[in-house]
Amino acid sequence: MNNATEPTTAGRYAPSPSGDLHFGNLRTALLAWIFARRTGRDFLLRIEDIDTARSKMEFAHRQIEDLEALGLTFDGEVLFQSQRCGAYEDALETLRRSGHLYECYCSRKDIREAASAPHGVQGMYPGTCRELSNEQRASRRAELETQGRVPALRLRSEVADFTTRDFFAGEVTAPIDDVIVRRGGNKGQGQDWAYNLAVVVDDAFQGIDQVVRGDDLLMQAPAQAYLGSVLGFPPVEYVHVPLVLNAAGERLAKRDGAVTLREMAESVGLGGVITLLGESVGVAGATSAEEILERFECGDFSREPYVWRG
Ligand code: GLU
Repeated sequence: MNNATEPTTAGRYAPSPSGDLHFGNLRTALLAWIFARRTGRDFLLRIEDIDTARSKMEFAHRQIEDLEALGLTFDGEVLFQSQRCGAYEDALETLRRSGHLYECYCSRKDIREAASAPHGVQGMYPGTCRELSNEQRASRRAELETQGRVPALRLRSEVADFTTRDFFAGEVTAPIDDVIVRRGGNKGQGQDWAYNLAVVVDDAFQGIDQVVRGDDLLMQAPAQAYLGSVLGFPPVEYVHVPLVLNAAGERLAKRDGAVTLREMAESVGLGGVITLLGESVGVAGATSAEEILERFECGDFSREPYVWRG
C-alpha cells in the first residue's frame, strides 16, 4: 500500500486484554479497520497490556483470534505494550531533560481533598507537588519511602487547555492538567506505566496518524495530543465513534448477556454476528467484513450510540 515515496500512514485497534471482546469492542475494531482501509492506510494491532493487574496473555490471544475470525486484516507484527518499557523510559528521559517532568507524592485522598477545596476542579490535579523546593521534595520522598512507596511522575504542562480535531466532533478543546506519566506504587513491586504516555509513545512509534476508538476517550484526546506535541511527535487525526449501549442506556458490558463473539456465534453463527455488526454501522445483510468495508457509507453511519437489543 505504501511505496518508497509515500510516508507510512496507519490506523490501529488497541484493545486491553482484560477479557473477551464484546459486541461494542468488535464494532469499534470494525470501524477502525474500515476507516484505515478506506483511506489507504495500513492497519495495526496493539495489545495494551501495561495494566499488569488486569491484563492476561490468554485474553490477548483470544482477542486476536476473534478479530481474525471476523475477517479483519492487520499489517505487520502485533505490538505488545508490555515489551515497550525501554521506549517509555526514553520518553520519560526526553521529558526530564526538557524540564517537563516532576515527582508527585500525593495519594488519591490528597488529590480528592485538594480538588474539593475552593478553586479546586473535580478530576483535575491541583498542582500540589509542582512547585516544591528540592528540600521539600527530599522530605516528601523520604516520607513515602517509610511507607514503602515510590512517587508518581507527572507532566509539567505549560498550557491551560489544548485543542485537537476529531472527524465527527470537529474541534475538541479540553483543560490540560499535569497528567501522570508513570504511576507511583509500592517500592520493589514495579510501577505501572500510565496509559496516556504509552498510547502516545506507541502511536508515534507505529507511524499511526489516524486514531479510531470509542468516544468515551474523546475528552482525553487533547491531553494525549498535548503530550505528543511536547515529545515532538506529529499530530494524529482522531475519529471517536459512538459506543454501544445496553437497553438501560449504559455502556455495553459482559454482564449484559451473550455479547462476546464466541457467545453470539453459538446462537447466530459467525455469519450472523457479521451481519449484526454490518447492520450496526448502516450496512444491511452483509455476509463478510470485506463486504461491509465495500458498502460502508459514512453518511449512513449514525453518530448516535448504538443500542444493543440482545
Ligand atoms: N486500550 C484502550 C481500551 O481498550 C483503548 C485506547 C485507545 O484506543 O487509545 O479501551
